[in-house]
Amino acid sequence: MIAISLQSGSNGNCIYIETEGVKLLFDAGIPGIQAERRLASYGRDIRDVDALIISHDHADHVRYAGVYQRKFCLPVFVTRKTLKHAAAGQKLGQMDNVNYFKAGEHLNFHNVSVQTIPSPHDGVDGVAFVISSREKHLGILTDLGHVFKDLYSVMGYLDAVFLESNYDPEMLAHGPYPSFLKRRIAGPRGHISNAESAELLQTGSRLKWACLAHLSNNNNDPATAIRTHREILGESFPLYTASRSMATAILKV
Ligand SMILES: [Zn+2]
Ligand SMILES: [Zn+2]
Repeated sequence: MIAISLQSGSNGNCIYIETEGVKLLFDAGIPGIQAERRLASYGRDIRDVDALIISHDHADHVRYAGVYQRKFCLPVFVTRKTLKHAAAGQKLGQMDNVNYFKAGEHLNFHNVSVQTIPSPHDGVDGVAFVISSREKHLGILTDLGHVFKDLYSVMGYLDAVFLESNYDPEMLAHGPYPSFLKRRIAGPRGHISNAESAELLQTGSRLKWACLAHLSNNNNDPATAIRTHREILGESFPLYTASRSMATAILKV
């Protein structure tokens, strides 16, 4: 299995996964042309993607879903509630080939399964994901709200994970955001901090790597996130950070 984060953060999210000949995109938060170019730089054609799967209704995850569907003819997988709220809040435009799932269901694409995990984040019907094929399990766990119980059971069998590591509490406390926004981010339906992310990773006994994702621009930076993780985790496995402005390397599972 290979994974590429094409971009990660409140300015737009999109992750590409390829395994057993199945090609999946998770979220459509960056312009179509950027997703197309970043995939092309790794020799991949976005038109070959088998499914675009949407995590939740926030613009940084769904904004360009209509563009990807029309321009690249991608089948879209989304919950009814998420699509309804996303369409009410932003201009997605006409979309064909929409396939509905319920939060908590498994989606199957040939020999690849995608488990959807309902999350307490403040989207209307948000989910996190575990992609499984040939005994390999990769998590895409961002926009989590807080570290909820299901995450611990999932962490026990993941081989690799993109995990939210949104903010450093000190930077958030002393940063420029208004207090209602600070409360939202640190609250139970916002985002998880560097230390919360690291403590969750500590419970992963099979992890080969973790890629820290959805880092805040104002309340975090890659060096701080990695330092906090290393303080808690030691040197147990490789850590990467998903950039807010470019694609990661190809990460293998
Ligand atoms: Zn987000
Ligand atoms: Zn969100």
